[in-house]
Amino acid sequence: RYVPEDISTLLSMTQPMKLRGYQKWDTFCEAVSNMMSNTLLPENGKGVMVALRPVPGIRIEQALTLCRPNRTGDIMTIGDNRLVLFLSFCRVNDLDTALNHIFPLPTGDIFSNRMIWFEDNLISAEIVQMQTLEPEQWGKPLLMASDAKPVLNATHDGHAWRRTPEPLRLLNDAEERAS
Ligand code: C2E
Ligand code: C2E
Repeated sequence: RYVPEDISTLLSMTQPMKLRGYQKWDTFCEAVSNMMSNTLLPENGKGVMVALRPVPGIRIEQALTLCRPNRTGDIMTIGDNRLVLFLSFCRVNDLDTALNHIFPLPTGDIFSNRMIWFEDNLISAEIVQMQTLEPEQWGKPLLMASDAKPVLNATHDGHAWRRTPEPLRLLNDAEERAS
């Protein structure tokens, strides 16, 4: 029986347009690739892919924290010092409009360089290129404050992080009385 390791990978295989936001490099490639081979979607009208390189002094992980897609189907990944976004069903002429919705700052302030792909075969060719990137080169997002309780209940004792145990009640009073 096939058991998926990662639910987002499974989702990307079945319904890539249902994803939103940051995806691991391989999940991103898989999702875009599946979308490109989906014949139910309009030819050369599936979306725009854009790769952005941060200005000197901004790390790609920091740039990622500024990338906040709202639309379902808008996904991004980081690796090889670039942020790659796929904007579902966005037309190339609307790219700047979409980027303005997604970044809180003008993208020119964050990125010095951009590359754009917007036809199925060009997007697919770039994805094939991207899939050759070694996992060591894949970026890792910083823990983000918005992900509720990002840092564990832990303190650093000078050598290592230690979790601080917290008392936890499994049953409330009513349930205790009932049993
Ligand atoms: P969604 O497509 O996942 O978009 C989520 C939110 O992203 C939207 O919330 C909106 O705040 C923003 N957004 C997405 N695309 C655009 C865009 O092209 N322009 C602007 N200005 N904002 C955008 P919102 O407006 O509350 O919509 C909730 C959901 O309702 C959307 O989820 C989508 O599924 C649907 N929806 C709303 N308006 C439209 C529309 O004009 N066309 C389509 N196809 N769906 C729409
Ligand atoms: P708009 O907000 O001026 O966006 C123009 C076009 O930019 C959109 O055309 C779409 O191709 C692209 N775009 C803008 N924001 C996003 C985004 O967050 N992600 C992606 N992937 N593409 C984006 P489209 O879809 O034909 O929508 C035309 C107009 O309909 C939009 O003009 C907006 O006024 C409205 N609209 C569409 N979807 C939504 C939505 O989910 N929520 C709201 N509030 N308005 C929407």
